[in-house]
Amino acid sequence: MSYVDEVLERVAAKNPAEPEFHQAVKEVLESLRVVVETNEEKYRREALLERIVEPERQLKFRVPWVDDNGNVQVNTGYRVQFNSAIGPYKGGLRLHPSVNLGIIKFLGFEQVFKNSLTGLPIGGGKGGSDFDPKGKSDREVMSFCQSFMTELCKYIGADTDVPAGDIGTGAREIGYLFGQYKRIRSVYEGVLTGKGLSYGGSLARKEATGYGLLYFTEEMLRLNGEELTGKTVAVSGSGNVAIYAVEKAQQLGAKVVTVSDSNGWVYDPEGIDVEVLKEIKEVKRARLTEYKNYRPNSEYHEGRGVWTAKVDIALPCATQNELLLEDAKTLVANGCKVVAEGANMPTTMEATEYLQANGVMFAPGKASNAGGVAASALEMSQNSERLSWSFEEVDSKLKGIMINICHNVDAAAKQYGMEGNYVAGANIAGFEKVADAMLSQGVV
Ligand code: NDP
Repeated sequence: MSYVDEVLERVAAKNPAEPEFHQAVKEVLESLRVVVETNEEKYRREALLERIVEPERQLKFRVPWVDDNGNVQVNTGYRVQFNSAIGPYKGGLRLHPSVNLGIIKFLGFEQVFKNSLTGLPIGGGKGGSDFDPKGKSDREVMSFCQSFMTELCKYIGADTDVPAGDIGTGAREIGYLFGQYKRIRSVYEGVLTGKGLSYGGSLARKEATGYGLLYFTEEMLRLNGEELTGKTVAVSGSGNVAIYAVEKAQQLGAKVVTVSDSNGWVYDPEGIDVEVLKEIKEVKRARLTEYKNYRPNSEYHEGRGVWTAKVDIALPCATQNELLLEDAKTLVANGCKVVAEGANMPTTMEATEYLQANGVMFAPGKASNAGGVAASALEMSQNSERLSWSFEEVDSKLKGIMINICHNVDAAAKQYGMEGNYVAGANIAGFEKVADAMLSQGVV
């Protein structure tokens, strides 16, 4: 049996009931086969693959808090510190009822390679809780965040592990988490990113994942002799990543016709009005059913039909496994030429393979959504310097990083004879640096 197959089998046996984690490991290791075969003796001797699929540390803890009715609620908190070979652990905190250890491990594993791709000195981690901020009052969210941080603060720090936002964790949650960290640890440091501008946050961090996705997509199109201007785009999701993907796509001359949430999706033939979207989602924290009140010519559909819109480019920006094989078939049948992931692992493996086999340019999230973590690392730099950079400075560094990632991914795919396969290119380019650092640091 090949080394990769041995390790895949071992991961499935050792981590039962964690399908998302198995999926993420399989996707990465499958595309590393040629690299692993070239270096097999060395990697086996050092048990490199066995170590890379095993988190350095995983924490699971009780999070008790009191709701507005005086009832005690109990959630589970997680932090998986996956790999620190190239820098302190870095990765977001997800607050969503679907969160479990397997999901956090899949996200942490992906984060290791994504962070490496940015070229910045950050290791990979991820955390979160099955707490659902939806429908909770600000007091309840604060109560949860304070309890969560009371435990988490023992394991994180500006030079050890720096969490950030993710699904369900936005500016409000980061503020409460930061306040509690400072209170308990008596230290004012850049322990979280995605902070408010008045207490150490970075300009352009909020926009960075969505903007970065579009910088990457534009460059990928350019390398393949196409351009973004004039294209029609479907975006899924209507959270942080989706909103700023819509905004940047439109600034670059494309027309975005859809957004969605977990209940339904909007089709706006005149192009999504991003200011309306921000008002509904960022200010009112309301549902997308409201969109039609502002834009009477738009349509609202219940359910998950967002990929049935006829578009040139699809940008999945909601959650994992939201673009299935049947969706990929519909997109291809409707003439879609590009799929670039804003979310983490939104496309199933079968759907990815179908898209690639049918000539669709496919950008995997670990490359195309790396703008968020890249801007987070820039926030860490500003905190260490005790300086704040202008929006333009951060945005232009972000753009440079995304273009660089795109070129590195493209080049890695070509180097191993898989031209145009950005999944393989991203995994190889991300892996090589981490592997090299791990081998240099010995068996740790
Ligand atoms: P938000 O919480 O701001 O938004 C998430 C969006 O996805 C919402 O519209 C939400 O709808 C929808 N959604 C969430 N879960 C589901 C589900 N199970 N089914 C259908 N729709 C769902 O999160 P972000 O925008 O920050 O994150 C989106 C994705 O991007 C995630 O995969 C995240 O890991 C990834 N990502 C985020 C980064 C960041 O900087 N924020 C960086 C890199 C990746 P509803 O409101 O109905 O729940």
